[in-house]
Amino acid sequence: MSKVDTGELAKEVERRRTFAIISHPDAGKTTLTEKLLLYGGAIRLAGTVKARKASKHATSDWMEIEKQRGISVTSSVMQFDYLGHRINILDTPGHQDFSEDTYRTLTAADSAVMLIDVAKGVEAQTIKLFQVCRQRGIPIFTFINKLDREGRSPFELMEELEQVLGIRSVPMNWPIGMGRELCGVYDRMNDQVELFQGNDHSTIEVRKVGDYNDPIIREMAGEYLHDQLREELELLDVAGDPFDLDKVSRGELTPVFFGSAVNNFGVQTFLESFLKLAPKPAPRQSTEGEVLPTEPRFTGYVFKIQANMNPAHRDRIAFLRICSGRFDRGMSVKHVRVGKDIKLSQPQQFLAQDRDIVESAYPGDIIGLFDPGIFRIGDSLAQGGGVVFNELPTFSPELFAKVTVKNALKHKQYQKGIDQLTEEGTVQVFRTASFDETILGVVGQLQFEVFEYRMRVEYGVEIQLHRMPYQFARWLVADKIDPAKFRINSTLVKDKKDNYVALFENEYAMRTAIDKNPDAQFLETAP
Ligand code: GDP
Repeated sequence: MSKVDTGELAKEVERRRTFAIISHPDAGKTTLTEKLLLYGGAIRLAGTVKARKASKHATSDWMEIEKQRGISVTSSVMQFDYLGHRINILDTPGHQDFSEDTYRTLTAADSAVMLIDVAKGVEAQTIKLFQVCRQRGIPIFTFINKLDREGRSPFELMEELEQVLGIRSVPMNWPIGMGRELCGVYDRMNDQVELFQGNDHSTIEVRKVGDYNDPIIREMAGEYLHDQLREELELLDVAGDPFDLDKVSRGELTPVFFGSAVNNFGVQTFLESFLKLAPKPAPRQSTEGEVLPTEPRFTGYVFKIQANMNPAHRDRIAFLRICSGRFDRGMSVKHVRVGKDIKLSQPQQFLAQDRDIVESAYPGDIIGLFDPGIFRIGDSLAQGGGVVFNELPTFSPELFAKVTVKNALKHKQYQKGIDQLTEEGTVQVFRTASFDETILGVVGQLQFEVFEYRMRVEYGVEIQLHRMPYQFARWLVADKIDPAKFRINSTLVKDKKDNYVALFENEYAMRTAIDKNPDAQFLETAP
């Protein structure tokens, strides 16, 4: 085992912040990410969404689908330094086309930034991603974007956070006007105002003030907006939640920042507050109990496998979140599931065009390991072995399709493809009770397309997918399952481990089945 300087390890852990930005498409994630990267003069870019949008993607060999659409099929990682911090942003595809990978990536984050469009409020995809973060109990910071546009009132948005997401919020700053009238924000934590100057809002001035009654604000924003600001902030002081870091840390209270990413307005103060308040890499749960990031032995787990980065080589990259210790290039670690030592000789910290080789990395960092087919999602690596991380939940599929093979002679390749792709977590697979039909389950449409594409390109099998009307899958747990009883409101299938799973077309059918079978448990994911 290589010698690790524990003082240095603690320092490196202390300065790291690893987070994901969660949002609905079009809220401005690409824009915000880009602004954040600019502050840090990004040191490591993992083929950012923007780079692809700007057609730079031609230089890196993304999957064909990704190229055609100019979107990120699988999430990537960006790393930069700012004010002594080392920041890892985990990119989750902001598209409608998200997949289980998006959810899995969230397990590698220590906090999340929830980006919301001021006019649209909380949207569908935000809700789903929020729920995954909520389940993990990680702190969630909210950035309400596009303040330069006419939007909803800040109070209304706070109300919506509570009603729709069930989370209380505490505004860290407050808009002075909005849309065309927007002249700035009042920073409640630092008692300063940030003001837009000039007709085109192109310059930003930050002024320290006594408090929100300071006449300087009146002078700069005008009587009307200042009166409105004072009224609203007085109300907040009396009726709003006070800032409470413990509640933020437990994910019970979300600090809210207002700004405009495209104008770079409020972004820097957001970043600086975020770095102060967001947690360093957290301990992770394992079969050996909690693993602290400052433990000298190296451990980590694979949360994503990206295939076909380079179609010519058919290589795969396993993304590993480091949980403890220091990673050194060439080190030997135990691949816990397989029970063998492996040498990590070709690590890549990110997927940029030049694929830099990483010499060392610390907890909170993500490294990409060359994978000749030895890793599965959820695998743990640990010096000395033993530790198995239980970080990766499975997610309940919401879209289903029946598979047929166009050329029956290809059956062997088809089977191999199904086995490998389900192992990688590309899709979940079910069989009808009589075992003659294969049904795929996914959380996002894109997973179907990736499956179809990879079957054709990697296994030479043309398949056809027939969408099925189911929306819910529930794993049945009961002493005795009488299949006949479950066929009434649902289709009964089996998963890879022969568990019974009932598929329902709608919530009503599911409720009815649950009511009629009080002895059975209906689980959202495999037991
Ligand atoms: P993504 O889909 O969440 O990655 O969103 P993008 O960053 O691509 O932004 C979607 C659209 O919103 C683009 O046209 C952006 O220029 C625009 N946008 C982003 N931030 C702002 C903002 O602060 N104000 C306004 N008016 N538009 C913005």
